[in-house]
Amino acid sequence: MPLNEARAAGGAALGACRRCGTCCRRGGPALHRADKALVVSGRLSPTDLYTIRPGEPVRDDVAGGILTSADTDIIKIRETPGSRACAFFEPDGNGCTIYPWRPLECRILRCWDTAGIRRCYREDRLGRADLIGHIDGLWDLVAEHDRRCDAGRLVRLARRLRRGDREAGAGLARMVRYDDALREGLAAEGRVPPAMLDFLLGRPARELVRAMGILTRQASAHGASGAPGSGP
Ligand code: SF4
Repeated sequence: MPLNEARAAGGAALGACRRCGTCCRRGGPALHRADKALVVSGRLSPTDLYTIRPGEPVRDDVAGGILTSADTDIIKIRETPGSRACAFFEPDGNGCTIYPWRPLECRILRCWDTAGIRRCYREDRLGRADLIGHIDGLWDLVAEHDRRCDAGRLVRLARRLRRGDREAGAGLARMVRYDDALREGLAAEGRVPPAMLDFLLGRPARELVRAMGILTRQASAHGASGAPGSGP
């Protein structure tokens, strides 16, 4: 048994968290409305976060890892690049660097008894509207992006393209181009820090399409006139 699992098992035996870091290595938490103050107060920055938008495929770890569709915004703490570990996890000391103000899911999770996390997992998720819905201009930009680059539609088009639908490929390429251009434009204008874009606009359309096994040049080749940019 790997060391971390053994330590987690020790926690189970004791009925207490051993702070072995196993759960932190499996990904950061999703935020709930109870966590709103962490963002408003600046303890968590929008640049620490990313948004899974409604309609995106998402793995439901509480339901045994099944793949489902997000039905609301799911705002998560970023992972450390190249791994699934929460960005606030310090592997050398197995420590949470924000432990005193860790989000709700981290406070509730008991790896030896998941009843608490099962109860709260889908309840009162924090959405982008809770945080920036009152900011005119910024919220208009987010709403317009959601309208023109709807994640559910993107996923449906990608599935149709996989079945060889050229028209779907054209629509998909248009969405990827639009999303690319908006991100590049906002970053170039200095209106939004680039690290904040994945919170505001969700993960890039290009990455979602790639995660579904489709190269963006493939989408272009199936119908759009002009390439949506270089392939991934
Ligand atoms: S916020 Fe802290 S406790 Fe929660 S997953 Fe990240 S490192 Fe672990």
